[in-house]
Amino acid sequence: TLSCLTAMDASDPLNAYVHKTPEIALDQARAADERLRAGEAPAMCGIPLGIKDLFCTKGVASQAASNILAGFKPEYESTVTSKLFEAGSVMLGKLNMDEFAMGSANESSCYGAAVNPWKLDGRSLTPGGSSGGSAAAVAADLCLAATGTDTGGSIRQPAAYTGTVGIKPTYGRVSRWGVIAYASSLDQAGPMTKTVRDAAIMLGAMAGHDPKDSTSADIAVPDFEAALTGDIRGKKIGIPREYRVDGMSDEIEALWQNGIAMLRDAGAEVVDISLPHTKYALPAYYVIAPAEASSNLARYDGVRYGHRATLGAGDGINDLYEKSRAEGFGPEVQRRIMVGTYVLSAGFYDAYYNRARKVRALIKRDFEQAFAAGVDAILTPATPSSAFELGKLKDASPVEAYLNDVFTVTVNLAGLPGVSVPVGLDASGLPLGLQLIGRPWDEAGLLNHAYVLE
Ligand code: GLN
Repeated sequence: TLSCLTAMDASDPLNAYVHKTPEIALDQARAADERLRAGEAPAMCGIPLGIKDLFCTKGVASQAASNILAGFKPEYESTVTSKLFEAGSVMLGKLNMDEFAMGSANESSCYGAAVNPWKLDGRSLTPGGSSGGSAAAVAADLCLAATGTDTGGSIRQPAAYTGTVGIKPTYGRVSRWGVIAYASSLDQAGPMTKTVRDAAIMLGAMAGHDPKDSTSADIAVPDFEAALTGDIRGKKIGIPREYRVDGMSDEIEALWQNGIAMLRDAGAEVVDISLPHTKYALPAYYVIAPAEASSNLARYDGVRYGHRATLGAGDGINDLYEKSRAEGFGPEVQRRIMVGTYVLSAGFYDAYYNRARKVRALIKRDFEQAFAAGVDAILTPATPSSAFELGKLKDASPVEAYLNDVFTVTVNLAGLPGVSVPVGLDASGLPLGLQLIGRPWDEAGLLNHAYVLE
């Protein structure tokens, strides 16, 4: 804890922490020492963590990196952070992210972008997003591990860009209670760590049924660490041909082949599979996620919490809503709210939202058929490239920015577990990651496959 706190003080150029909590960290570290002395050894005892700003932490600023939540200090603790604290973890502070987790470069944050500790010829790169602060902090040793959330790739893509490990669990494995909502049917929290073993230990501490989240599943949490045997003999790995997208670089192709060879060497059987509806996943995602976001973000009205606009003479309640929301939400969040309300509006609901829901069902069925045919895990690239330069997306169209999520959104639409593992470096020496997608509730098997690739 002390060495992380010292490193955090010297790490301002990375802009990873948006709020440091050294007093809380030292209190929790002392409490962890006491527990160790008393002979207790909870799974995360004394482990210093960074917490994504999307998690409500009692009495500590929790803003989802948005001005609309300026000054918001929750009265309660999210289930995930409560469980981590019960397991002995220490909170070092809150971590940077894209505003309301909308983005892939951490550039929509009201605090400015987090910066990747990996550099290209001295130039600053994105750590990815939305959990960019979490990935940067883990990669730069500003914590031992961090919490992330993943709605369409926000754990796996930043992990790939920073050479770290990130797992998005099966939908319902981890409680969403107290996690500020983006798109509720897609959101899942998960660990971002340096190693697969750390991910297994931390996921065990985060997961489990929570009556406070009606979508949390009442399914036993296995010992994920014990499952890391490295034995994948006889397992069947699917390689989906639709993930070989247009314009994929030779480097990503080579990385993928390398991953295939590693799994084969470990005794797995590798088979080609087809997930035919893959090409509709991005459009379906970028209808469903904004639709849910527009509904979830309706609660920020300038009245109950966060930013409230100053009103002029003659202004009424509608001016209060409009001005507070116009001032509080950044441009990307406003775009999503507009897209979301449009696709849900009476005249367009069937053409967009309903159609996207049907596509979602087909994407889920593609995966079910692959698993029914005996596939244990699916191997794909995690991202179409290595980390890009900060600012690059500023001149790009929103659609170009959204293309970044091409390999990750299918997993959220189907509710499956997915893990990103660092597998190599590109020609410029930047980290690249592969993604493994597993059967529902089989995070243990998935992590064991990731363990072989690490
Ligand atoms: N980049 C995607 C989006 O902007 C995914 C973000 C996420 O997983 N939170 O919606």
